[in-house]
Amino acid sequence: MRNAEIAAQIRELGVLYEIDGADRFRVLAYKEAAKTIQDSPVSVQQLSVDGRLTELPNVGKTMAQKIETLLETGSIPSADKLKQKFPASLVSVTRVPGLGAKKVRRLHDELGVSDLDSLRAAAEQGEIREMKGFGAKVEEKVLAQLETLSDEGDEAERRILSKVLPVAQELVEAIEAHPSSGKVAITGSARRWGETCKDIDLIATSDDPRALGKALAEHELVAQASSAGGKGTSVLTHTGVKVDLRITPEETFGNLLQHFTGSMEHNVQLRERALKRGLSVSEHGVTETEPKKGRKAKVYRYEDEADVYELLGLDYIEPELRQGRGEIEAAESGELPELVTVADMKGDLHSHTTLSDGRNSVDEMAQAARKRGYGYLAITDHSSSHGFGDHVTPQRLAKRIEEIAKWNDGGPKGFRLLSGSEVNVGTNGELDYSDELLSELDWVIASVHTSFGISEKAMTERVVAAIEHPLVDCIGHLTGRLLLRREPYAIDIERVVEAAAANGTMIEINGNPNRRDLNEGHARLAAEAGVMICCNTDAHGVDTLENMAYAVATARRAWLTKKQVANARVWRSFAPLRKRHNA
Ligand SMILES: [Zn+2]
Ligand SMILES: [Zn+2]
Repeated sequence: MRNAEIAAQIRELGVLYEIDGADRFRVLAYKEAAKTIQDSPVSVQQLSVDGRLTELPNVGKTMAQKIETLLETGSIPSADKLKQKFPASLVSVTRVPGLGAKKVRRLHDELGVSDLDSLRAAAEQGEIREMKGFGAKVEEKVLAQLETLSDEGDEAERRILSKVLPVAQELVEAIEAHPSSGKVAITGSARRWGETCKDIDLIATSDDPRALGKALAEHELVAQASSAGGKGTSVLTHTGVKVDLRITPEETFGNLLQHFTGSMEHNVQLRERALKRGLSVSEHGVTETEPKKGRKAKVYRYEDEADVYELLGLDYIEPELRQGRGEIEAAESGELPELVTVADMKGDLHSHTTLSDGRNSVDEMAQAARKRGYGYLAITDHSSSHGFGDHVTPQRLAKRIEEIAKWNDGGPKGFRLLSGSEVNVGTNGELDYSDELLSELDWVIASVHTSFGISEKAMTERVVAAIEHPLVDCIGHLTGRLLLRREPYAIDIERVVEAAAANGTMIEINGNPNRRDLNEGHARLAAEAGVMICCNTDAHGVDTLENMAYAVATARRAWLTKKQVANARVWRSFAPLRKRHNA
């Protein structure tokens, strides 16, 4: 059984317990165990065989026994028992946003709802609005949510890039290490650093394709494999990600790389352009469409991808730009931007420590930032009303300012910590701390963390009020979205961008791979309006400082140069960009 299948069963059991009214810690234990199993890079079935299940985080003795039974018999007795009480299809109803297990249980008991179809029928007949505590609004919401759920299909299989890219990189390393392999590359949306990814596309050259395919099939991350042929192989990882490895002759490696990198829109535009020049582009080469009489059509095969673009009269186009959004025209006229890189970054302006919900101390975060070669790091713990516990009271923040000043006094040359805060923006745009305290800080990010459901107009006014505040330097994760999990809240981006440009307030691209917010479209819009962009990680520990790669990837997909990214500057030229510097 694959990890994804085991995780689904454990998750289902958790939801069934929840519907049954089990206490919340028990329910949580199942949800967390399911997540651990889903994300485990090694085979959970193999761990079970080896008697090592309890080595997994969130898997205790009881949980391990349930997994063992599942693997031996194909089901879990406690789940079977609950399924006699409630239909298993009721679990799918809890996927409707806004319907928790408690509500679903009532829908079942009072209206006989057993699955998504009977939920829709009940809503359409106006039965839900009659229920105590539900009302017309909930009913409308349910109907709207059902619309998005039903066309979700494909989306459900997508994953955020950070779940896929490390797997792809590890497999590439393994392929590179194989004696038969030559060139190896990741293609597809992973190479373009898209926000989400469906599967992994790899290409390689090899003098023994069968042996290379076999080696991939036997890799410890791989759960299942189809038989390997001369042209490649297809496998499934333990986490359920499909991996296609295509093996190509060296002479067409560049053609194949270009073809499979996409995007589809980019390739369509490229092909149209080629056809006008009497050329047809495919993964096997670029072919003359109208060869001279009596002559065979010439085929251009390239080891190097850049040669494909050169043949078509174009500058090389970075993968992140290949989205069919004007890059071909720009490549023709030599006007492609010189994109910002991770190596350009001189500091990080959004990070948390144990003072709020982070995992490391100020000193640990500082040392890790220095190791990355940064000249500065802003410590921006959550403000007092954050609401997730660990409130930083004004008194505590004042003390933190002193601690950081002291750290800087004894600190290393060429590196400084900034006293900062990620301040909540209240529903009317009010900030958590007094202006007096905010003015003591070096750097203030203002973010929305609550009341996402207010109207677009109210949300826009709320954020614009923060932008206009003289002590707010930057706006954090502007739209509040969580990729594949939570839609952005309604906000008028153009109005926000206009206000930010007028006030000299920066906007961040948040590098948390679940957020990447601003998205690339909004980031491009903001930068073109003259707003300075910050690439931040929002790191909650030393490990997630690495997420700078995702922030920069979004910046690159937004066509940004290092001039447009504030923290691609050294401290001396960054410092005066802050509004407070001139206040
Ligand atoms: Zn935040
Ligand atoms: Zn944060």
